[in-house]
Amino acid sequence: MSNIMCPVCGSEDLTQENRNEKRQLTLGQPYEYSVVVYHCNNCGEYGDFSEENETVRLHYLELAEDKLAADLIEQIEERKISNASFERALEIPPRTLTKWKKGKVSATGLALLRLITAMPWLLLIAEAKYTPLAMAQVLSKALHELCVKHNIPISFEKDHADEPRVVVTFYTPQQQVPNNGFSTIQSGT
Ligand SMILES: [Zn+2]
Repeated sequence: MSNIMCPVCGSEDLTQENRNEKRQLTLGQPYEYSVVVYHCNNCGEYGDFSEENETVRLHYLELAEDKLAADLIEQIEERKISNASFERALEIPPRTLTKWKKGKVSATGLALLRLITAMPWLLLIAEAKYTPLAMAQVLSKALHELCVKHNIPISFEKDHADEPRVVVTFYTPQQQVPNNGFSTIQSGT
């Protein structure tokens, strides 16, 4: 560490200071680590003179990503979705989840885990080979369940205009939901 010098004046008369940084990945727990900053006692320059902080940040980011992947996989397993059915539905290689659990998750893998954890019914759509009818059925049920779970008032109406379509109306908590609040989305006739 004796070769660290001020990038401005070249002085080695430096004061070292630890600084905590707090980060959080989407859907992850907050995590903290400390980086080292230097203060030049000769010219007053201040900063990461050793240029080692990026390595520290990257290290903790990777740890956080591995932890998040393991947590998300656990949440998926808690929903009684087996690793094999996950991999089969998404047509990814067997034992991919095992690999991710061991801390070899890519950014793409992590993105996929976030999506499936937030919207596990996407697996049903994938299983049904993304057919429009399956998507409509799964989405209507998922939307219904989401609204019930989070107490979001909603009603489905069928619009009998020239082009049949489904109108979904969200109600603010202050508004009254019409009598038979929920109905299933019907395909247009
Ligand atoms: Zn200096």
